[in-house]
Amino acid sequence: MQNAFVYEPNNGRILFGAGYLQKLSEEASRLQLRNVLVLTTPGKQAQGREVLELLGENRATLFAEARMHTPVEVTERALAVVTKHDIDGVVAIGGGSTTGLAKAIALRTDLPQIIIPTTYAGSEVTPILGETRDGVKSTQRTLKVLPEVVIYDVRLSLGLPVPLSVASGLNAIAHAAEALYARDRNPVTSMMAEEAVRTLVSALPRIVADPLDEPARGEALYGAWLCGTCLGSVGMALHHKLCHTLGGTFDLPHAETHSVVLAHALAYTLPSADQARSVLSRVFGGRDPALALYEFAKTLGAPISLRQLGMPEGGIDRAADLAVQNPYWNPRPIERDAIRALIARAWAGVAPAND
Ligand code: NAD
Repeated sequence: MQNAFVYEPNNGRILFGAGYLQKLSEEASRLQLRNVLVLTTPGKQAQGREVLELLGENRATLFAEARMHTPVEVTERALAVVTKHDIDGVVAIGGGSTTGLAKAIALRTDLPQIIIPTTYAGSEVTPILGETRDGVKSTQRTLKVLPEVVIYDVRLSLGLPVPLSVASGLNAIAHAAEALYARDRNPVTSMMAEEAVRTLVSALPRIVADPLDEPARGEALYGAWLCGTCLGSVGMALHHKLCHTLGGTFDLPHAETHSVVLAHALAYTLPSADQARSVLSRVFGGRDPALALYEFAKTLGAPISLRQLGMPEGGIDRAADLAVQNPYWNPRPIERDAIRALIARAWAGVAPAND
């Protein structure tokens, strides 16, 4: 018999299919949008202009200033454009950074959002927003930021460079892995999480071998959607907290930090999470999941050390202190010495171990 649980799915209309970007105008009309703000990062302005054309030039304005970690000053500039052009909805095309800007606008205006993800970050299906003010990042969970419509079009992910695909894919796997031992997990998220990890573990090596392999790209995007749904539904634990601490304190790249830390966080936690360990072990053919994941990331060419990402060795103690000062729930309680050893191993890029 199943243990007791609460299951509360998030609303949102999901469209998934090759070429589905073409459905954008129809979706904007469904939401009765007349004057849309299209968001991209600076490097993706050309893609933003294509979206303007799809919507009809007189129905949209481009704002191409989205940046990693959603700085509040960028949001404020975007809000000025919202007011000036009497905007009634936002369309974000890009990764988690662009989605973050759409959510930050929605938080302050309640404008409806259509998100077109081009990485595997998963933010488009979560009610979570991280914002940076004066260099300090804070995260909140509120249904106000949950996008109304998400359009997944595999063709938009074909050009995602292999290193970014790998890091982003491992970042997605981290959402599903932690969902498997979340305190508030339920049978539906656990089912999604297993399917998600299995799908990404199958797809990523094929993407590395051939970045234009459309079926593999489709599977990765499908897996990323499931991973994001898990992240949006249940609480995360040690791994996500460590990544936020490390990323925020040492200004490390988001997805790459996840891809380095995950195997180590699992080695620490899985001995206290039997169900999650057996699911992940099944995905990795009966092997120890933490070691298997470490080897998997290495085979894919992912960065394997925090040192490579620019973290100073002197930061290991500080990171361990921060992790212990900010206690959070984890299946295995947080013990400073063991956490320090975990971070030291992740810094050096050696195989994960369980102290
Ligand atoms: P990103 O959005 O910063 O994208 C990285 C770079 O890749 C950008 O320059 C972008 O323009 C480019 N890019 C995106 N898609 C591309 C494509 N298909 N082809 C070529 N280039 C492409 O990176 P990310 O990892 O997707 O997102 C990271 C951000 O998202 C962080 O700020 C993180 O905190 C946030 N995030 C939030 C949540 C949440 O639930 N709130 C979840 C995951 C990530």
